[in-house]
Amino acid sequence: QWNRVRGRLRDEYGEAAFKSWLNPLTLAEVRDGQVRMCVPTRFLRDWVVTHYGDRIRSLWSKEDATISGVDIVVLPTTAKMPPRATLVAKASNVAHVAAQTAAAPCEPANINEEIGAALDPRYTFDNFVVGKPNEFAYAAARRVAESDTVSFNPLFLYGGVGLGKTHLMHAVAWHIRERNPQRSVIYLSAEKFMYRFVRALRFQDTMAFKEQFRSVDVLMIDDVQFIGGKDSTQEEFFHTFNSLVDQGRQIIISADKSPSSLQGMEERLRSRLGCGLVADIHATTYELRLGIIGAKAEQMAVEVPRKVSEFLAHKITSNVRELEGALNRVIAHAQLVGRDITLESTQEVLHDLLRSNDRRITIEEIQKKVAEHFNIRLADMHSARRARQVARPRQVAMYLAKQLTSRSLPEIGRKFGGRDHTTVMHAVKKIEELRSADSGFAEDIELLKRMLES
Ligand code: ADP
Ligand code: MG
Repeated sequence: QWNRVRGRLRDEYGEAAFKSWLNPLTLAEVRDGQVRMCVPTRFLRDWVVTHYGDRIRSLWSKEDATISGVDIVVLPTTAKMPPRATLVAKASNVAHVAAQTAAAPCEPANINEEIGAALDPRYTFDNFVVGKPNEFAYAAARRVAESDTVSFNPLFLYGGVGLGKTHLMHAVAWHIRERNPQRSVIYLSAEKFMYRFVRALRFQDTMAFKEQFRSVDVLMIDDVQFIGGKDSTQEEFFHTFNSLVDQGRQIIISADKSPSSLQGMEERLRSRLGCGLVADIHATTYELRLGIIGAKAEQMAVEVPRKVSEFLAHKITSNVRELEGALNRVIAHAQLVGRDITLESTQEVLHDLLRSNDRRITIEEIQKKVAEHFNIRLADMHSARRARQVARPRQVAMYLAKQLTSRSLPEIGRKFGGRDHTTVMHAVKKIEELRSADSGFAEDIELLKRMLES
C-alpha cells in the first residue's frame, strides 16, 4: 500500500519535490485505522504536514477505506557519531537510541521535537530590515547561516529587549534548514534549556540530556542571561558548550548584555562566550524605525501616510517590538472603523503609549526617589558630606542618572552640588562593582529603576 501511495505522490509532485520532501518518509505501522509515518527532522515533519498532509491522507484512504488518520512523527535516524574522545558516551548513546527504537518505533526518540522550540515563520532574513544599528549583527548572522563550516564560535549576539535578537536567530535557523535539511539545527531559550536540564536531573537522565545536545550541528540558545546565578545549569551548559565547540559544531548565543557584563556568570564561561564573534545590536535610529514601518506596512499591504510613519518613528523610540505593536494598533483601528489612517487617528489610538514614550526621567526625580528609599535628606544629594550613609545613596543616584537619562557626566556632576565628572565616573564604577558583588544590592537598584521608569 505504502509503495502505491509513494508512487502516486511521486507522479503528482514530480521527482524533485518527491526527493527533497517525501522520500525521507518511512512507514512505521498501520494500526486501528491509523497510519504512522516517521521523518528524521521536525522541519521536514512541519513541511510535509503543511504541504502534503491532506494529499497523503486522501491517498491512504483511497488505498484502504478503513484508514481514518495519518500521523507523521519525528524520528531522527542519523545519530551523529561523536569523535573518539567520547567513546564511552557514544556507546551508551547508541544503546540508548537502540533501546528506544526497539521498544516503540516512533514515540520516545523524538529528540528534535523534544529539545528545540518552534520557529516563527515571520522571522526570516527577508523580513529583517537592516540599518546602521544592526548591520553588523545581521552580517554576522548571515555569514553563519550561509557557511557549512564553522565561522566564528560562538556567535554572540547581544542587545536590549525587542531589538531583533530572536528574529535573527530564527532567520539563521530557517536559512540553514532550507538550504540543508539534513543539518540538525536546534533553537531554544536558555530558560527551556535549564528546564530540560533540571528535569533530566530529576529523572537521573543527564547522560541522555547531554547526548541530545551533543549530536546537534547548530545549537542556538536565546537569552542566555537567564542562566546567570544558576550554578549547576551553568556547569552543564559549559560542558555542552565546550564539547560542541571541540566537535566543530556551530553555536549561537544571545543575551541582553555583552559576555563580560553578564551577571552571575562564572568567569570561565563568560570568557568562553566572548571568544568567538561578539556582535551587538544598538538601539534603533530614526531611519531604521522609518524603514521598519515601511516594510511592515508593505507586508500587510496597507497604505500608511508618510506623515504618520514619520510621527511613529519619532515617537515610539523604545524598541522594534513596541513600534510594531503601535503600527498594528493603528492599522487594526483603521480597518475596524473603516477609515483611512491619519495623524489624528494615530495620536488618538496611541495616546497611552505616546505618553509613556514621552516621559523623560529627570535627575531631580531620581535624587528624590533615592533619598526617600535610603531615608536621607534630599539636601544630602548636593552636600559635601562624605559619611558612608549619605555618600553611597548619592553614588546610587549618580549611577541611575547616568543610566536613565541622557545627561553627560559633567552635567550630572553639576546637579550633585557641582561635583566633577570624575566623581560621577567613579560612582558609576563603584555601583557597578557592588551590583555584581552583592545580589541584594543589585535587587535594590533594580527596584529603584523600575519605580523610576514606571
Ligand atoms: P529580542 O529578541 O531582541 O528581544 P525580537 O527578535 O523578539 O527581539 O524582536 C521583536 C520584534 O521586532 C519581532 O517581532 C521582530 O520581528 C521585530 N524586529 C526586530 N528587529 C527588526 C528588524 N530589524 N526588522 C524587522 N523586524 C524587526
Ligand atoms: Mg528575544
